Amino acid sequence: MDANSFAPPSRRISGAEDMRRLIVDKLVYSVGKDPEHSVRQDWSAALILAMRDQLVDRWMASTRKAYEQDQKRVYYLSMEFLIGRLLRDTVINLGLEEPVREALTMLGRDYEEILRSEPDAALGNGGLGRLAACFLDSMSTLGIPAHGYGIRYENGLFRQSLDDGWQAEEPEDWLNTGHNWEFERPEVVYQIPFGGSVGEDASGKRVWQASEVILASAFDTPIAGWRGNHVNTLRLWAARPAKRIDLASFNRGDYMSAMASAVRAETISRVLYPDDTTDEGKNLRLRQEFFFTSASLQDLLRRFLSTHKDLRQLPEKMAIQLNDTHPAIAVAELMRLLVDTHGIGMDAAYQITRNTLSYTNHTLMPEALERWSLTLFGAVLPRHLEIIRWIDEQHLRTAAAAQRSLDLERVRIVDHGNGNGHGVRMGHLAFVGSHRVNGVSALHADLMKQTVFKDLDAVYPGRILGVTNGVTPRRWLHSCNKPLSSLLIETIGEAWVADLEAIDAVEPFADDAGFRERFRAAKRENKEKLAAEIQQRLGLKVSPDVMFDVQIKRMHEYKRQLLNIMEAIAYYFAIRAEPEKDWTPRLKIFAGKAAPGYQMAKLIIKLINDVARAVNSDAVVGDRLKIAFIPNYNVSLAERIIPAADLSEQISTAGMEASGTGNMKLALNGALTIGTLDGANVEICERVGEDNIHIFGLTAEEVANYRLSGYDSRAVIESHPVLKSVLDAIGSGVFSPEEPGRFRAIVDRLTYDDYFFVAADFAAYLDTQRQVDAAFADEEEWSRRAILNTARVGWFSADRAIRDYAREIWGVDTPPPSAFAEAAE
Ligand SMILES: *Cc1c(COP(=O)(O)O)cnc(C)c1O
Repeated sequence: MDANSFAPPSRRISGAEDMRRLIVDKLVYSVGKDPEHSVRQDWSAALILAMRDQLVDRWMASTRKAYEQDQKRVYYLSMEFLIGRLLRDTVINLGLEEPVREALTMLGRDYEEILRSEPDAALGNGGLGRLAACFLDSMSTLGIPAHGYGIRYENGLFRQSLDDGWQAEEPEDWLNTGHNWEFERPEVVYQIPFGGSVGEDASGKRVWQASEVILASAFDTPIAGWRGNHVNTLRLWAARPAKRIDLASFNRGDYMSAMASAVRAETISRVLYPDDTTDEGKNLRLRQEFFFTSASLQDLLRRFLSTHKDLRQLPEKMAIQLNDTHPAIAVAELMRLLVDTHGIGMDAAYQITRNTLSYTNHTLMPEALERWSLTLFGAVLPRHLEIIRWIDEQHLRTAAAAQRSLDLERVRIVDHGNGNGHGVRMGHLAFVGSHRVNGVSALHADLMKQTVFKDLDAVYPGRILGVTNGVTPRRWLHSCNKPLSSLLIETIGEAWVADLEAIDAVEPFADDAGFRERFRAAKRENKEKLAAEIQQRLGLKVSPDVMFDVQIKRMHEYKRQLLNIMEAIAYYFAIRAEPEKDWTPRLKIFAGKAAPGYQMAKLIIKLINDVARAVNSDAVVGDRLKIAFIPNYNVSLAERIIPAADLSEQISTAGMEASGTGNMKLALNGALTIGTLDGANVEICERVGEDNIHIFGLTAEEVANYRLSGYDSRAVIESHPVLKSVLDAIGSGVFSPEEPGRFRAIVDRLTYDDYFFVAADFAAYLDTQRQVDAAFADEEEWSRRAILNTARVGWFSADRAIRDYAREIWGVDTPPPSAFAEAAE
């Protein structure tokens, strides 16, 4: 048998007719449907399978190259991958849009309609999960051999609808129609042990006797980069019982207990925890984290050992990135596998582990830094607790030697005290077990050194660095905003798609009246589309002429949607008081989900909808103010709202938003930001220039000082009549006459416990919004500034972020951006 025996028939497409044949072939022979009787889902499945075929050769070539050249690999471990839909991006990345459109036209199908019927894979909550998805795109684009590793949740983030203005939650069953992108790998299975106890064998070696074993089985999704030159793998793990059914019980007729352990096992990959900022403290959460981390580490060690012998080479051949503390157990698990399974000594294993792992921190909020009680941790992972205690001893010796005056209690990984923070501190574990620890913006990295990791930074100086987040320009401009993307390509060429910093070539056109008009026309087209969707979904008629003022992100008190709706109320009262004045008309758009257990966030959703009801039906106000809460925020909805935005609300309490990435997407699409000096807003401001952004409010330092010196929100409220009138209206039931006390809790919170400084920033926010009004009224000047935003935020590309990781953390080579410029010519 010669090598050619393995050559598959070619599936390379050269034109629409080829494409048509391939789609029909998939529909008939893979989906198993008669084209005459196929519904939209069938065509969507057929098109996805056709595109997947297009990826397979490139995917295998990428894998082959990585093996042949023994390239260093990157493993990105993340509890969440918010990938959304893949079809449009894949078609565009592969340069197949024309033939696909034409082929579907020949078949009498509508391309856009088929795109919309692809389920939105919501395997994440928000920014953290979306970052992981953008990074997969960039690693493929830059040709870095990489795997994303995560969990294949059967139910992703819940689907949100509104029930009389209240959030209602339904399960997201994205797998119901099948995930046609993935390949099931039933042969790739690992055993994941839990519980039991640790003993010793005859030679004195520690032996873990687990009380339960669950299987992790792999599902692979190919992820193509720009032009499809390199295709990486997203490998998600599904939990399976080691024994499907206990036949003895079954034969006894006890069907429930026959299935019980199977159900318990499968629960692990059943649901995504609906919040990435609070520690649920749940046994299941810990089991989920260990499950996917252990499976991933076993898998990457197997791959390494298939071509290498010496495990001490691990750090030269791979880099493992921990996306937040969720996979922090990797520190102990990698040690366990090296020591218990592969017979390496503790000291050597510790060194290998630290040189291989690195950790990205995503939040400074103390309540969000995971910690597990010793009882729970010891019961679920007894061997890991031993290993962590060993690491802690080494670490405390280092700490004592490095900093004599240090209070060692503060840097321990395993804390026995009863205070806040006792138990196994996963942030400390991840920090100590990594060679690099990064924050996600410059400000965030700075604050890490000043707050949560102050002591650890003193022990391990230089370990912390900042890598500011980025977003992929393929999804977040080129494919989601066709009108603007086409205009840019016509004006400055296509180089920016692969090298976003090249978008600065459009800067001179900000002074070109003709270009400004075309830029406005693109924005207008996007606004008309969104207006139509708002009318269709909410029954609310809105004018595309008004300012589209957008706040889209998870509902959370620190993100301060409340500040925004309070400003809307103030504006509403002002318009009613002087209806004949020349107000700048606005549509306020909100979208975002609240964690199901987060009552305050859910109450704020209701407040937004109650205010919307009053304002939208007030004939005196008309188009001058409209409020739209668009339900079920997800990646696809973001892709429709962002291109239509004029104003981007990034108004978190300073010091609380680690980076934000929504801010980057919106600025890139030509929205001006109104925001605080928080997260990446600081760097966006530096790049677009102070004249092209509206900054207001307390700085992170001022907030911190207030916290120390005491902040009296009641005095602030009393001294500001507008603020007082807004709170009085909310608290007395002006927007909820059927239940006047409905929003009392909100008013009480701001009056007695305004942790997020809403009252403190209200006056500055109001002033700044009125400056925004004046600026928007000058259409030409606003367009000029909007263009400058698009032109100057090229640095916030995920490609740049990945180059930074590659250079500063992973020690991986990447091609220079100029390589792409040449390839594009
Ligand atoms: C970008 C994005 C986020 C993050 O938004 P922030 O404003 O940075 O919080 C969350 N969810 C989705 C669907 C996104 O696309």
